[in-house]
Amino acid sequence: MTAHYCSLAQQPAPAFAPGLAAERVGALMGGRRMWVNGTVLHYYFFDGDTDGSVIPVPGSAGTRRVSWVGGRAQRDVVRDCFREWRDLGIGIGFTEVFDRSEAELRIGFQQGDGSWSAVGRDALLPGLHERTMNFGWDLTAPGERATALHEIGHALGMQHEHQSPFAGIHWDDEAVYADLAGPPNFWSRDRTFFNILRKLDPAEVNGSVWDPQSVMEYPFAAGLILEPEQFRGGVHTPGGLSALDKEFALRWYPPLDTPRPPALTPFRSAALSLGPGEQADFTVEPSETREYAVGTFGASDSVVVVFEERDGEPRFLAGRDDGGTEHNATIRARLVRGRRYFVRVRLYSGWGSGETAVMCW
Ligand SMILES: [Zn+2]
Repeated sequence: MTAHYCSLAQQPAPAFAPGLAAERVGALMGGRRMWVNGTVLHYYFFDGDTDGSVIPVPGSAGTRRVSWVGGRAQRDVVRDCFREWRDLGIGIGFTEVFDRSEAELRIGFQQGDGSWSAVGRDALLPGLHERTMNFGWDLTAPGERATALHEIGHALGMQHEHQSPFAGIHWDDEAVYADLAGPPNFWSRDRTFFNILRKLDPAEVNGSVWDPQSVMEYPFAAGLILEPEQFRGGVHTPGGLSALDKEFALRWYPPLDTPRPPALTPFRSAALSLGPGEQADFTVEPSETREYAVGTFGASDSVVVVFEERDGEPRFLAGRDDGGTEHNATIRARLVRGRRYFVRVRLYSGWGSGETAVMCW
């Protein structure tokens, strides 16, 4: 029997300035949705009587409201899966919040609306009252815990494994369309193409080899894959985090070496010797309360984020991504004397002979 499949919403392809070097574009494709390491992602479960979607009632002109609120057992599966990802020791934290305005990840349980998530930082795009993740079927059913692990994988920036160009999968396209058009998915051809047949850009996939054991891989019934030959009988996924899933998450989000990175002193630039995808972290403890600027210098594409420590936890204060532009990222933020801030700079890529640096002033 065909499984329930995760179904991501189509997003417009990123538009990079014409003439950008291929290496620069590759780095942007791979990193543009990844969070800065050290980010704490706050998640919220919809809980209001009026939280839901209004959908048409088939065969009538009427509409009805379907709730986004999930039962305790469903929420507990998701909480447990956040814990499993966190327990890998990654540098991303997860904290449940009960106020949606504090949440980067807002989770609904609209039954029949499919299971899906925004990929990485795309979660910052929907409005405050919109979902960034949905679970459309019972997560307590056998094998369905993997759905929650999978959607959190998307929230960390991971993509579908079976769409990796490195998988070398040659599909029986019409068999796939026919399979997905039937129960339990009932997908249109467009949806099937976008989520299964379409190959991803080599730069945006989770690794340089196909990982059929990945939690980001769908199980497939026999008769959908023509090549490689050994998968003609189907793809049988174990349903947990694979060794390569863990490696990918830890490569982008390594454990934070030190809770208190070196100081960034105002008006003193700090040189950055970063390779592609690497990150430098600093602490700022302002001696006066005023508006400060934090910026990068040199020929690089980078993301800069300032966090303010509140109750021992970093809270996003301001961020800037200068990837693909000719400008350097500069942030203006009011910093308060006596509080502690963290400046985190992640490099996509640098070029030319110039050094890159960060300064606060
Ligand atoms: Zn998915």
